[in-house]
Amino acid sequence: MNSKLLKRICNAPGVSGFEDAAQAIATEVLSECCDEVKRDHMGNVIALKKATNPPRGRKKPLKLMIAAHADEVGMLVTNIDGKGMLQFRQMGGLGSEVAQSQRVIIHSRKPIRGAIVPKGGSDGKTAPLGDLVIDTGMPKEQVEKLVNLGDVATFENDASVLNGKMWVGRNFDDRIGSYCLLAAMQKIEKTSVDVYAVSSVQEEVGLRGARAAAGGIAPDIGIAIDGSMSRGAYSNGGNLCEPGQGTGIYMVDKLTIGHPKLVKYLFKMCAKHKIPHQLNIGGGTDAAAIQQSPGGVIATTVGAPVRYMHSTVQLCHADDMDATVALLVKFMETAHTFYNGLDYVTA
Ligand SMILES: [Zn+2]
Repeated sequence: MNSKLLKRICNAPGVSGFEDAAQAIATEVLSECCDEVKRDHMGNVIALKKATNPPRGRKKPLKLMIAAHADEVGMLVTNIDGKGMLQFRQMGGLGSEVAQSQRVIIHSRKPIRGAIVPKGGSDGKTAPLGDLVIDTGMPKEQVEKLVNLGDVATFENDASVLNGKMWVGRNFDDRIGSYCLLAAMQKIEKTSVDVYAVSSVQEEVGLRGARAAAGGIAPDIGIAIDGSMSRGAYSNGGNLCEPGQGTGIYMVDKLTIGHPKLVKYLFKMCAKHKIPHQLNIGGGTDAAAIQQSPGGVIATTVGAPVRYMHSTVQLCHADDMDATVALLVKFMETAHTFYNGLDYVTA
């Protein structure tokens, strides 16, 4: 795996709706390995790698959309109170037990550090999210000079190796997906389909970017790349995937029933090419927005298991990232064969 690329993409801030820094990296990397790259009006980065060997007999190559969301859960400053503390709203699903006692960076004109604390001071208990504020340690007058309402904040934790091949980071949902998307596009050589690699925005607030991107692309097949729900050490909480055991292939999640033939094909393809993989039953991803875009699209999600999702200490195993990249590359090579094997497809 490419540790440098992983760190680079993970350490760029990208709160939902404010993904510019992460999207700049996606644009740069995809420009080097795709034929066209554009940023749409929502902020999605859409790169096209044209089919290198389109099948004879088709007027136009099939369109495959693979998408990973660039946004991460974070905070947006809504008020500077009388004490100079910053009140905030959550951007994406954030638990107060995750936010409390964390260090953050407020992305103002220049980055400002802060700590999330309960309004009443710490008594060792978890306060509700609405009672948490960001303390910058600066007097009110200075805070007012440096911070604007609407500035966004991310947790400070950068990505690093925890131990061995296990990595830890604040935003592996979905920067692991972003990494796998970029790494797969760097690796792919021959495809029989037009591949649209999409670094989508605003997934954490309702799959907004992918919906717009899929509407514009009108893909035949869509694959979202997102963290597979992983077991913790003590209870599986209904999660199936085990870190280090391969990429997760989503059969079903809260928003999508993966196209059964696509899911089956991915399992068979991985088995054939000895790509470690496992069944996942997941939370909800951009696949829903792609699948339900006009006309309906064959779709599901794949991705490395992420343990402690939506926390500041998300864990992911390097081998699972490699397996995800391998699956994506192999699917880009063979997507045309898969599509032709569907009995209701006549094209
Ligand atoms: Zn996600």
